[in-house]
Amino acid sequence: PMSKQTHSFQAEVKQILHLVTHSLYSNKEIFLRELVSNASDACDKLRYEALDHPQLFEDNPNLEVRVLFDAEAKTLTIRDNGIGMSAEEATAHLGTIAKSGTREFMAKLDGDQKKDAQLIGQFGVGFYSGFIVADRITVESRRAGLPADQGVRWSSEGTGEFELETIDKPLRGTDVILHLRDEETEFLSTWRLKSIISKYSDHISLPILMKKETWDAEASKQIVTDEWETVNKAAALWSRSKSEVTDAEYQDFYKQISYDSEPPLAYTHNRVEGRSEYTQLLYIPAKAPFDLWNRDKRGGVKLYVKRVFIMDDAETLLPVYLRFVKGVIDSADLPLNVSRELLQESRDVKAIREGSTKRILSMLESLADSDSADDKAKYQKFWGEFGNVMKEGIGEDFQNQERLAKLLRFSSTHADEGVSLADYVSRMKEGQDVIYVITADSLAAAKSSPQLEIFRKKGIEVLLLAERVDEWMLSHLHEFEGKQLQSVAKGSVDLGKLQDEEEKKKAEETAEAFKPLVEKLKTALASRAKDVRVSNRLVDSPACVVVEEGDMSGHLARLLKQSGQ
Ligand code: ADP
Ligand code: MG
Repeated sequence: PMSKQTHSFQAEVKQILHLVTHSLYSNKEIFLRELVSNASDACDKLRYEALDHPQLFEDNPNLEVRVLFDAEAKTLTIRDNGIGMSAEEATAHLGTIAKSGTREFMAKLDGDQKKDAQLIGQFGVGFYSGFIVADRITVESRRAGLPADQGVRWSSEGTGEFELETIDKPLRGTDVILHLRDEETEFLSTWRLKSIISKYSDHISLPILMKKETWDAEASKQIVTDEWETVNKAAALWSRSKSEVTDAEYQDFYKQISYDSEPPLAYTHNRVEGRSEYTQLLYIPAKAPFDLWNRDKRGGVKLYVKRVFIMDDAETLLPVYLRFVKGVIDSADLPLNVSRELLQESRDVKAIREGSTKRILSMLESLADSDSADDKAKYQKFWGEFGNVMKEGIGEDFQNQERLAKLLRFSSTHADEGVSLADYVSRMKEGQDVIYVITADSLAAAKSSPQLEIFRKKGIEVLLLAERVDEWMLSHLHEFEGKQLQSVAKGSVDLGKLQDEEEKKKAEETAEAFKPLVEKLKTALASRAKDVRVSNRLVDSPACVVVEEGDMSGHLARLLKQSGQ
């Protein structure tokens, strides 16, 4: 057996430890949420592995979490009979940070305690949060399937190092033992622990057990008995009928699964029946997470099969552009041992994905099209947070392109924000048959573009597009309700019927009169300009540069150049 070994934490772990213990002190009770959630994850993992290897259950298939304390020793233990850890796993999982988002997350922290604490909350702080209240944590664990003498004890004061040794551990699973700091003894109370559990962990679908207390008349105080009782509801909220769940419960559940401190903007809960049977409970957050732009980020939707947790990051359940949606999908059709590969090909998953996408879109439509000012404001807020991600959908989700196009909002020469394509079309001038847009690096640049002069003069609205994703979106969105989208920075703008006969005649005369100059310019600029022509788009400026119809816009060319292409 291994004798006691000392290891150093990875440098990042030290940083995280420092951050977590310092910035979360004001909300220290969350350590219990994190440790209970790890215990519950460990049980989920065992249940999942045992689908193929039932012997892993040994003789104890009833998965559960127990929370117990010893007031004299000042220890608090979170015990599970889940998958457990081998010595290698304990070293890897409790000594390094493997999660890909962590580095990115750390870069976001700026030392402002209040803001950082919120970010950390959003990120989920995990195992190390135990050190907020403990000056030593001992973890005793045995991986399911390993013999009793291959247990491991991991122990650390949460500074620079941890110790590892082999122990006998007959019971499968993990004990996380917190040696509470002297000033944290408030957590040695059944009442206090119960109330934290019900606040954060009610929805955990395993029983969480604590020792029962009774009133001892002689000592005239509560005493802890040896009898265990379940202290959480352990009922999956989404499996209850809609009419039985209150708004407050939906909001609480959102907080539990999202780590978001703000209430969600909207949610939808449905049992879908038919060819594919599933329950969906989906939330739209009010605020974008710090890693919204990471397209590889794990999805926010958890997959369950008949109330058994299957996986957390089921990105196949929703298209990438809806990666900000949080919630739960519980399928009645998928096999319990479904793998990631299987998910990719499953027809049931395809049905779930299409159905859920439609739900989200109709939720957004009902906010956007609502008569209530409140809903409209909500949609405006939504668009501000997530609009640029929704634009990805235009090029990725052709099936819903039309619906997505209706949800788009723009700035224009007529209004600073909130202009929909339908608004635009309703304001089109007599004889106008295309939707004019201009793309630029910034809104200010778009607004001051000389290419807009003629449109301003004629009072024709132009949509101003200044986001990185806009150019890409335009390459996929060619028309709306039969009206072409046309960039005013491309080719010779054809004002068509918007020009009267008089103007047309004048334009032709001008072109004729300037022919000699144009020829001279063409020769002079031969190596730099493809063409030189008299334009009708300028009012005050003498000249402007445009790209040829069908070519990359100047803006896109600049973007590509910036990214080194
Ligand atoms: P996360 O839960 O987000 O992965 P944590 O910091 O909470 O991050 O936990 C780190 C890792 O430690 C887990 O992914 C898991 O592998 C391991 N771990 C923590 N607690 C337990 C436990 N009770 N049983 C088994 N493994 C655990
Ligand atoms: Mg965790």
